[in-house]
Amino acid sequence: MKIIRSAKQLQKITTQLKTKSTIGLVPTMGYLHEGHLSLIDMAKKHADKIIVSIFVNPTQFGPNEDLSRYPRNIKKDLKLLKEKGVDFCFLPDSKEMYSKDHQTWVDLEQIPLGLCGAKRPGHFRGVATVVLKLFMLSQADVAVFGKKDFQQLALIKTMAQELNVPIKIIGAPLIREKDGLAMSSRNVYLTVEERQLAVKISQGLKAVKSACQSGELRLSNLKKVFLKTLGAHPLIRVDYFECRNKNTLQELKVCVPQKTLVACAVFVGKTRLIDNLTV
Ligand code: AMP
Repeated sequence: MKIIRSAKQLQKITTQLKTKSTIGLVPTMGYLHEGHLSLIDMAKKHADKIIVSIFVNPTQFGPNEDLSRYPRNIKKDLKLLKEKGVDFCFLPDSKEMYSKDHQTWVDLEQIPLGLCGAKRPGHFRGVATVVLKLFMLSQADVAVFGKKDFQQLALIKTMAQELNVPIKIIGAPLIREKDGLAMSSRNVYLTVEERQLAVKISQGLKAVKSACQSGELRLSNLKKVFLKTLGAHPLIRVDYFECRNKNTLQELKVCVPQKTLVACAVFVGKTRLIDNLTV
């Protein structure tokens, strides 16, 4: 596996690569887990050569978020990527991606308004900008993103389509721990007690799905089911719980079976975890 730290060098390599191979890109922030690795498996099904980027993108973190303490273990990440048979790891630093006076941003009007976008102002501007840069540098034919970050996936699909980026965006399934907790690099922040509480998030979503399957379609009642399963605990705080159209992310008046995405962000201690299920 070749490790590339320079943006120019990556572009030079991919220009040559493109003449005879298709390129698959998997953007990550590192501290890799099985969720990330499943995206690589998916990318391999669609492209000859695989590039995984590891970049903790500063522009997608708010001033009071966890940029400085975001977990990192590059040595372990590189080992996992080599074992997976990844061809290139793009590992830039912040200066390589942004000049001091960077002034070009990709801003979407609608998709960032609700859900995580409403709770994390500026987050999706940072995401869209860095992802477009990665698309330009990797010259990828295909890029794979996890459905765990469903709003991010919708944003990137829309951006690629509206800016005519010649790339196919693939959404890969959300991968969970055995007990149901959605895998996340941030799970490492959890104490033993918080880890036990965190499992209630996916249990809450499953309870909502069962209630919906039993005919309960009123959103206020579905929220009650979620909150009841989550339980009242001083370490748990719901940031949002919402039911949206799974294709358009538009708000719903009632839950529409087969078409509803139930999504939430929950603080467990200081750690903000997201999860979702289609119902
Ligand atoms: P991150 O490193 O958290 O920025 O995530 C990089 C990519 O991995 C994004 O496309 C995420 O949606 C995806 N991802 C993260 N966790 C999971 C998971 N548990 N299952 C599937 N994809 C995931």
